[in-house]
Amino acid sequence: MKKIVVLGGGISGVGAALLAKKHGYDVFLSDKGTIIDKKTLRNNNIKFEEGIHTIEEIMTASEVVKSPGISDLDDLIKQIKDKGISIISEIEFAYRFTNSKIVAITGTNGKTTTTLLVGHILEKEGYDVLIAGNIGTGFSKSIAEKDYDYIVLEVSSFQLDGIKDFKPDIAILLNITSDHLDRYENSLENYIESKLQITKNQNKEDVFIYNYDDINIVNNIKTKAKMIPFSLKKIFKTDGAFYVNNEININLNNNQMTIQDLALQGKHNVYNSMAAAVASRVLEVRDFITRQSLQDFKNIEHRLEHVINVHGIEFINDSKATNINSVWFALESMHKEIVWIVGGVDKGNNYEELIELVKEKVKAIVCIGHQTDNIHKAFKDHVDNIVDANSMNEAVGFSYQLAEKGDVVLLSPACASFNMFNNFEHRGEEFKKFVRSL
Ligand code: ADP
Repeated sequence: MKKIVVLGGGISGVGAALLAKKHGYDVFLSDKGTIIDKKTLRNNNIKFEEGIHTIEEIMTASEVVKSPGISDLDDLIKQIKDKGISIISEIEFAYRFTNSKIVAITGTNGKTTTTLLVGHILEKEGYDVLIAGNIGTGFSKSIAEKDYDYIVLEVSSFQLDGIKDFKPDIAILLNITSDHLDRYENSLENYIESKLQITKNQNKEDVFIYNYDDINIVNNIKTKAKMIPFSLKKIFKTDGAFYVNNEININLNNNQMTIQDLALQGKHNVYNSMAAAVASRVLEVRDFITRQSLQDFKNIEHRLEHVINVHGIEFINDSKATNINSVWFALESMHKEIVWIVGGVDKGNNYEELIELVKEKVKAIVCIGHQTDNIHKAFKDHVDNIVDANSMNEAVGFSYQLAEKGDVVLLSPACASFNMFNNFEHRGEEFKKFVRSL
């Protein structure tokens, strides 16, 4: 019997084990850390270990399903590859067991938002939709239970690195900017190549929706799929989406539609909304449903989330902004003077890219985390007030003192959250808690 070894026991790993078991494989799951959902494994008689990887057992695999958290550069992975055992990601594995139509979304930023937008539109049209990937209950676990009309998947580059045959009917590539380069031997080229894999198996019946303004995409793309661009800079006479006079325009097959009054604010969300609208047009969702969905979509937590106004000062939680590019869009979308809370664990940020916007819009900076030197260095000549806070409570207090009526306090950290917080959600919750108690 074919033996599947699953490495990593998070949501995707446990899901993959479950799906493998359901399809009659001999399954073994191994996690070097702790597994949260041991109950599902026990209830389904799935063999597992935690706290250790037993090499001898892992090497008996016919195929290994690797969780996205484990790097290709890891020693164990190298050993498995050297032995010639096939290593795939969870989306590749799950893909083999579904006949649903797939919309897959990737990019450095905006994946979750766009995935939820597409899911929202298709649900409103009345389809049975699974929204999965890095969000929700997981791709494998969900399709182990039933199939769907559509599966809308948020896909990271780590998932794409382990695909062989995975082929979405519609692929969306939002943008590619430097992030996670530690996992790609510090090579932007490797990271670009990884992202472009979303379309590598597509053929001419499939559709590839991409950001025309992103040179990393446009200069490197090769695909057999039908290509549909979206842009804030160019107007398309043929198939494509563009933005003029605060209106999204979508041209497809000589038909044009427009959308105004988007629920999500900021240029980055215009991109996300255009990408989602093109997908829904391709899938022949009725225009009024697409329009309504983009207008009534509820913003998601921790992404430019309005918290409250305190004495005329607005507080915004953008804890999910963990890299420079997402902070750029956050600052860009503000129409008030900003007190900016920034910092955490820096992945080698180049703050230079923010200087123009900071000069124009930021009146004070409150740094959090232990590595604030880079932030001071980058902005000391451009911002008068830069202070360090030892905790989120203190950061909120300082920002409240530095802001005046009519200003906005923006938590948009440009950094990862470990050390001080469990994850970006925890960081955002803490921020909101202290803001609400001002
Ligand atoms: P992801 O799932 O790719 O991490 P999210 O949708 O969770 O992306 O958004 C994360 C952050 O990135 C948001 O808080 C926002 O500041 C920024 N962002 C969202 N969409 C875009 C985009 N299209 N381009 C650049 N930045 C974006």
